[in-house]
Amino acid sequence: MSRALQTWQGSCHCGAVRFEIDSDFPELTTCDCSICRRRNALMVKVHESRFRLLAGAEQLRSYRFHTHTAVHHFCGVCGIYPFHRKRVTPDWYGINVHCLEGFDPAGIPVRATVGAGMP
Ligand SMILES: [Zn+2]
Repeated sequence: MSRALQTWQGSCHCGAVRFEIDSDFPELTTCDCSICRRRNALMVKVHESRFRLLAGAEQLRSYRFHTHTAVHHFCGVCGIYPFHRKRVTPDWYGINVHCLEGFDPAGIPVRATVGAGMP
């Protein structure tokens, strides 16, 4: 059960990083890779054309590991992970849905993706 395509605003905890996405939330994903496990990420996948960084480009830090293709962003002030650029599909973002203002994930199917086994 997906929702209508809507614009959602998101931010890190301190508010330095603010962004906007358009999504109809066909599904949410979790991932068992070494970083998603640690940050307990619940994500929605959004194409870069449906992602807009509104504020905080100068606060945003990035972290890369393993193949260095995925770019994991976090706020340099409060440390929260708001989104990352995906590895297999680098023109897509994984968005931390818990950073979206007023978003309720109830009722949206959650798919567990396998990151740990990727070469
Ligand atoms: Zn912050």
